[in-house]
Amino acid sequence: MNADFSLMFAQPILDQHRILLEIHREIEARYKADFKYSTLCQAQHQRLFKFFEPTLSGKVTPEMFCDIVAKDANASPQQVAETMKIALIGHIYNLAKGLQTLIAYPHVVGKGILQFLNGAIPALESGNLLCAFLCFRACLEQTSQNHTLIGKIESLSDPASCSKDDIEIFLYELRQASAKFAFATRFDWTGILSADDVRKQLSSGKFSYVPGEGMSDLTAKSCLGAVDRLSKVIPEVRGVYEMLCEFSHPNVGVHLALIQDTKLLSDKQGLHWVEKTISVEPPAPFIADTAAVLELILDTVNRALKLHLQNVDRMERQIARARKIAQVRFRQEFEIGRELFDLYAPCPCLSGSKIKFCCGRKKA
Ligand SMILES: [Zn+2]
Repeated sequence: MNADFSLMFAQPILDQHRILLEIHREIEARYKADFKYSTLCQAQHQRLFKFFEPTLSGKVTPEMFCDIVAKDANASPQQVAETMKIALIGHIYNLAKGLQTLIAYPHVVGKGILQFLNGAIPALESGNLLCAFLCFRACLEQTSQNHTLIGKIESLSDPASCSKDDIEIFLYELRQASAKFAFATRFDWTGILSADDVRKQLSSGKFSYVPGEGMSDLTAKSCLGAVDRLSKVIPEVRGVYEMLCEFSHPNVGVHLALIQDTKLLSDKQGLHWVEKTISVEPPAPFIADTAAVLELILDTVNRALKLHLQNVDRMERQIARARKIAQVRFRQEFEIGRELFDLYAPCPCLSGSKIKFCCGRKKA
């Protein structure tokens, strides 16, 4: 423990700090190992998906699409067959995208929170409140977002039957929900990076935010919706979040966090002044004055992180459920269209096995 830290903070804050360190260790233990997962590479993705992007919204099925190609008088039988094959394979891997996102999501959030805590803890210990608060704010955002997503996934009801359509409706919904949280509106990196002159492009103001992968509604709603949902479980979250947001704004928080010393002065006219010293040293008077609030901030962040660890377990259960449902659909496909697929390709259920040894295993 940093000596400056223990001198500066009151006992209740030190207690919360100890809890934070325990949570940090737990998250670190959970996300120590690197997580690997395969996605279709960009080139394959484009080839497979340019044909039937409309199927993503469930409006056009591969069958309908193949019907259109078959009716094209100019298409040779080989072209029709090839297109149908691509459409079917693409459709199957496409169905697995929601599941794939869901499998990766807890790792992304977990490692992200770990990074934020790696920034927050030493910052807090050295009295760098600005940096610590910004990281705490990010932790609340991550935990809120994950909390909202898990609620969404849990609310998806199981397919009514084992019919192709019923399962696909479930998988589409899964995909819509997970894509919105993982890939919602984001900075258009591709647009910027493909520009001849990146600096010029950025300075022209001609940059934009794009929805991910052309999927239907991926407009990101404000993070506040998720924060409010977390507040239903931990009522202080919204207030603490607002407070933490202040510290990234130039008008209030930065000023507060940088006032290192205040002195009361009286001049000869009998007027009282407050002399403030702005510094990057730990703002001891601010910390002393706001001890109760600091304790509450730490306590709220700690509870949100603990809830997050429980949510990770809930997510694991949902991943297992979604995978089971998806596997029913994939087995149906591999039973009838086995010869279309490369059986040594990764199975779309993302079990980590190849198709041949997973959903494409021949029935004994
Ligand atoms: Zn499988």
